[in-house]
Amino acid sequence: MILSYSSISTYQNCPLSYKFAYLDRLPRKKSPYLSFGKIIHKALYYFYNVPTPNPPSIEKILSYIHENWSPEGYLSKSEESAYKEYAEQVLTNFYRVNIDTFSLPVALEHRFKIPLNERLPSGEPCILSGIIDKVEKTPSGGLEIIDYKTGRKLPSQSHVDNDLQLSLYCFAVKEIWQIEPEKLTLYFVVPDIKMSTTRKAEGIIETKNLILNVAKNIKEGNFEPIENALCNWCDFQIHCPLFKYKFKKSVEPAETKKIIDEYVEVKKREKITRERIKELQTLIHQHLDENNCDRIYSEKNVVVRLERPSFDYDTDRLKKIMEPLGLWEKILKIDTNILDNLLKDDLIDKKTKGLIGAIKKLKSVSYALHTKEIDEHPVKH
Ligand code: SF4
Repeated sequence: MILSYSSISTYQNCPLSYKFAYLDRLPRKKSPYLSFGKIIHKALYYFYNVPTPNPPSIEKILSYIHENWSPEGYLSKSEESAYKEYAEQVLTNFYRVNIDTFSLPVALEHRFKIPLNERLPSGEPCILSGIIDKVEKTPSGGLEIIDYKTGRKLPSQSHVDNDLQLSLYCFAVKEIWQIEPEKLTLYFVVPDIKMSTTRKAEGIIETKNLILNVAKNIKEGNFEPIENALCNWCDFQIHCPLFKYKFKKSVEPAETKKIIDEYVEVKKREKITRERIKELQTLIHQHLDENNCDRIYSEKNVVVRLERPSFDYDTDRLKKIMEPLGLWEKILKIDTNILDNLLKDDLIDKKTKGLIGAIKKLKSVSYALHTKEIDEHPVKH
């Protein structure tokens, strides 16, 4: 089985979308972002792909993008020319920033296919493939992996520190050049910002295990859909069981549709009412405080403020009283919310978490009704 960064991350995000894209090979929509990303990558390859440190001039780079431009994915001529202008700006800026420090890279668009030492339970080999945009020498003689990004938005540093693509490329570089990369960089060429990180040796083992785990799940046919933040941009919504309501709206009888819409409307009003009640309560409390009283009248109604004291007990002293009576256990109740939160943090070690997990019993199942508006005009991408 051959896996790449893109197939692994697709699987992690939603196993069903992996199946649609990589096994069923359903067609995907073209998008301006993809086309824009492709031409920027091509131009950067053109810039660095020279035998001696004599890079092409900016004029040559700009005419290169015009000659190699693809209209694919753009919705109109005006959108296409806006992107062309944008590409020119981004590349001109890239050139200005990088020309003085130009040096020949160690590798450029380096394609790799690395068989993992471990095989899948079926005996099948597992191969990691990919293309590394650029590998550079660092001033200390080490290697720096660079992956160009053409989006505007910057991730957080902790996202970069855990970025799967960099982890996979770090593993690949170590296998290819037998040297641990010194630096891993995502270069956001639009804002011209480099975000760098490193990986520890144990991180590389974790990465290998992650690849094997994804491969094993694919082999076992685990393709459950996972609704996620990217569903609105998913090319396969029409085939997805979680979104079939969106494409089969006329199937429900008219009476059922009325019930659905009324339920959603009432829920909306409920929220507004709850918020208004809170505001009115604050105003009434204010009035009672200012007038030092505990009731307030209108022509038709009276509101009375009643004291509702709440008490607590000294746990140790209460235990001393209740325990001899054999009643202590009866008043203790496990708070599963507190327990769940404790299990999420590091106060409890892995082994104990496993022991607690093993004695967890299903008590009951309740069903919540989740509502959401059907987006008639999904965001175009
Ligand atoms: S719409 Fe969402 S849940 Fe369905 S296949 Fe696509 S990503 Fe997965």
